Amino acid sequence: MKIYDTSLRAKVDFEPLEPGVVRMYVCGPTVYDQIHIGNARTFLAFDVIRRWLTARGYKVTMAQNLTDVDDKIIRRANETGRTTEEVSTTFADAFIEQMHRFGILDPDIRPRATHEIGPMIEMISRLIEQGHAYRSGSDVFFSVRSDPDYGHVSGRDVDDQLAGARVEAGEDKRDPLDFVLWKAAKPGEPTWDSPWGPGRPGWHTECSAMVHRYLGMPIDIHGGGSDLAFPHHENESAQAECCWGGTFANHWMHTGMLLVNGEKMSKSLGNFFTLKDVLDEYPAEALRLLMLQTHYRSSLDFSFERLSGAVGTLERVRTAVANLSWAASHAPEGAAGADEAARELGERTAQARESFFACMDDDFNTAGALAAAFDLVSSSNVYLDAAGTAAAAATARAAADCLTELFGYLGIDVAPKPATEELPERCLEIARERGCYEGDDVNEAAEALVRLRADARARRDWATADAIRDELSQAGLTIEDTAGGARVRRS
Ligand SMILES: [Zn+2]
Repeated sequence: MKIYDTSLRAKVDFEPLEPGVVRMYVCGPTVYDQIHIGNARTFLAFDVIRRWLTARGYKVTMAQNLTDVDDKIIRRANETGRTTEEVSTTFADAFIEQMHRFGILDPDIRPRATHEIGPMIEMISRLIEQGHAYRSGSDVFFSVRSDPDYGHVSGRDVDDQLAGARVEAGEDKRDPLDFVLWKAAKPGEPTWDSPWGPGRPGWHTECSAMVHRYLGMPIDIHGGGSDLAFPHHENESAQAECCWGGTFANHWMHTGMLLVNGEKMSKSLGNFFTLKDVLDEYPAEALRLLMLQTHYRSSLDFSFERLSGAVGTLERVRTAVANLSWAASHAPEGAAGADEAARELGERTAQARESFFACMDDDFNTAGALAAAFDLVSSSNVYLDAAGTAAAAATARAAADCLTELFGYLGIDVAPKPATEELPERCLEIARERGCYEGDDVNEAAEALVRLRADARARRDWATADAIRDELSQAGLTIEDTAGGARVRRS
């Protein structure tokens, strides 16, 4: 398996530090508002990366923090007259809810910054003892020039950064490059006691302390959005490696940006969308499909037109799987599947799976993997159109199972829903009234009605055929003529 390591700027063979075990950390959100779809794209990418590593047999342990103390949370609390705790609790709950809606698996460990103040203070104390950090009043800063490896994560030269370095009002740094580890208390802000007086941790401090505490160093993969590579990840790495020695993260992975209609998403441009906005209107799996059609490192161009397109694509995939399943369970006796067309679909099924795996093993190329799956959808449709009611059961079943398996790796369920869930009980009543079925299996009743209508049409008894269709229609059902034969489904 190959992954692109952004700190090496190269695709490398992935070998976990401990055979068969992967420890990964993905920076979580600052919980001051609903997350936007750009954040959601990053969390989806790492969800799929984690799912694929698991599918390939690795035992994956993933940690993701919740930043619940931060300037943005304090500002939001002041603006809305709430406490910082109320703001962070509200949006931490909202984040977890939206992740569940979006089909993102929970991390194994979800530490919160405010619960980890002790380990952070320990780390800062150690850095001061080692000469990598210093007090300035009641603030504590990390001394960037004390770390000869500083810049290796983002590939930046320390002196090049000097031009962009800023000193906040009131900060008394020895060097403009230095960053804050502990901020002295200000009125109205949440504070904790520390050896340097009351205050709160700087943003970068928490991830290093959590990785060290929950996963141990080094971890295999550290991930996040590309906007985090500098300064956040650079600083995380510097303070952890200076504090505990050795390597912080063996590999760094970063996701590309999300654009909306080709433009950077921003509130001022009116093209800013939260994940909740989108999931309130569109199915989560369509949004997953749209996002995964772009490789995670490339810029993703989001638009509602593309999202509507993904809704249609997903429907086509599900219809193909449903038709294959239907054909498989209704194949006539004697359709053994030995003909040339069936053999070809069998081959295409095997090719699709092989190509999907090869793409996913090549730096999680979901775009290529989906293209392979879509090819199988097309081949299946061609096969069913030609084979009609004589489709080979085993071949159709294998193609349906393959598609269900492949989309399943991406957290997209395309398996046909059990028909009993779909069809209402009214089917039973119609069949009983028509005298064609006496049992209590809704599917069998539906099939009996389909046969009754076919018989009527064969007799050219159009009145009866139409009456059956109308009765089903009033129950919200239609008779659909598919390649595998007619069937009843919800309108
Ligand atoms: Zn982080």
